Amino acid sequence: MANPRPPPPVAEPAPPRRATHSMASRPRLGDMLIAAGLLNQQKLDQAVSMSKRTGDRLGDTLIKSGFCRPEDIAQALSKQFHIDYIAPRQLSTSIVDREAVKAVGVKVLEEKRVLPLLLNGQPCLLICDPLDTEGTDKVESVLGKRPYAITTPSGVEMILQILAFETVDADRIIESARESIEAGEVKTLFQYLLGKAVLERASDVHIEPTGVTTVVRYRVDGELRTALSLPRSRHENLANVIFGMAGVDLSDFGRLHDGRFTFHFAGRKLDIRFAASPTVEGPMMVLRILDDTRSLATLEELGYTSWNLNAINQLLRYPYGLVLVVGPTGSGKTTTLYSCLSRINDGATKILTVEDPVEIRMPSIQQVQVNEKAEVTFARSVRAFLRQDPDVILVGEVRDEETAREAFRAANTGHLVLTTLHANTAVEALGRLFDLDMDPYQVSTTLLGSLAQRLLRKLCPNCKKRSSLNPALLFPELAENVFGAGRVPTKPFEVWEAGKGCTQCSGGHSGRTVVAEVLALDAELREAIYARASNEKLVQTARKRGFRTMMDNALWLVVKGIVSLQEAEATCGPMTTAPAKPAEKPSEVRR
Ligand SMILES: [Zn+2]
Repeated sequence: MANPRPPPPVAEPAPPRRATHSMASRPRLGDMLIAAGLLNQQKLDQAVSMSKRTGDRLGDTLIKSGFCRPEDIAQALSKQFHIDYIAPRQLSTSIVDREAVKAVGVKVLEEKRVLPLLLNGQPCLLICDPLDTEGTDKVESVLGKRPYAITTPSGVEMILQILAFETVDADRIIESARESIEAGEVKTLFQYLLGKAVLERASDVHIEPTGVTTVVRYRVDGELRTALSLPRSRHENLANVIFGMAGVDLSDFGRLHDGRFTFHFAGRKLDIRFAASPTVEGPMMVLRILDDTRSLATLEELGYTSWNLNAINQLLRYPYGLVLVVGPTGSGKTTTLYSCLSRINDGATKILTVEDPVEIRMPSIQQVQVNEKAEVTFARSVRAFLRQDPDVILVGEVRDEETAREAFRAANTGHLVLTTLHANTAVEALGRLFDLDMDPYQVSTTLLGSLAQRLLRKLCPNCKKRSSLNPALLFPELAENVFGAGRVPTKPFEVWEAGKGCTQCSGGHSGRTVVAEVLALDAELREAIYARASNEKLVQTARKRGFRTMMDNALWLVVKGIVSLQEAEATCGPMTTAPAKPAEKPSEVRR
């Protein structure tokens, strides 16, 4: 990734200093957000009266209420105060002015929430609040004046916490864990393990006892990698600390446990879900890291193609009906549903959810956690919701007939219902509804559409390798779907494959993208569903309306150089004729 460009030389004698000087001529934050289409008047009015009540800044209130993303506020402030904006994802410790950090001290910087940077050799000061002149004054008294750049508060905090984290002597802690270890040191070791997992964007930490060692592995982008191994003799120490944090009886290593606890790191409050199973070697533990404060990706950022985005936006405009999101575990269904909710959440819509578990907490919507013991089930919650006058209901999963019936009832009585199902493709999801005892009439009249998806690892743009693909090897029907009839290349064309890996990725991959298909029902499709047409017939009918399969989407990503052919085929099934294997039908998506 290229370094962010340096801020332009400051035209005025100094960057905006005191808010009072030019506030009158400056466009107002709320108006700018409305003009940018990031806020509506109703939400703004709500936030203004809220911030008058609490005394919080308007920007903070907009973030807390879930009306705006921190990135949107920072960007609007950058325009309002004519300061360069740096996106949090562009921040890394490599652009930190370490000499300046040393001169001021990390503690002071953490307190003032500012960070000296060197952008292409040019000193600048990263801030998150242009009105907080006390912080900048303090730092400038040491470093002298520098041009400003702005990012989100959590962006600044994240880098500062990483800088503080770097001074932890991890080698010493791990070394002492190999010899003897004190209770306090085990705790530091554990915090180091978890902190490092967060920095590496791990979703889970696995702590597994084997015969001689305890292996700690991180799951990053869906893949497990070994982070560390410790002597087996330290396993109980580590388990003690973790059981203690999760509030589980320390003497009870021999049972199944689960629990949750909070972990503060890099400016974030992380919710950790803990599960332990007794193995013959001792308790095996998995910690799932749920990041409450992580800002939710928009549907665009998740990587949907324009044709899928159009179809999804279309579905979300209906006031009532049922929308299904399907795919196996780990296919990003929850994130998609939340990105949909955040698109719908306009301050004038009442949104209720029932989930098991609540994975992402969202401000200004009401979320219910399934609790079988307390008889809070999916079906009962949906029934109860109908008396709460909601507009939109999210049902975490429809896995039994009773829940399906309630979800349909809600969708038929004026509510937009979003839910997930276990099915492989958008069309297969319909059959799953029939299995759950819904009849073709109900399905054809209530269902708005179904979205199936998977996640593919993206090639690292920094180290991907040029390769080529002979179009003659592609299944002809698939190639025509992607390139258009008569437009399939006749000569080998350029595609890319994973490189060996570099400093900006792990093993040649960096981040993931969604690959999806969205079936939005129209009159003809409803008729076909009512007549129980075959899946193939449904796909054919949908194609006439611009429907494209997940396989089409996957090959499109290969052609665009975003993913490798190997990755696309491993997840979505074969796209090319392999000489050793008999050809499979391209329209079928393998599990
Ligand atoms: Zn790379």
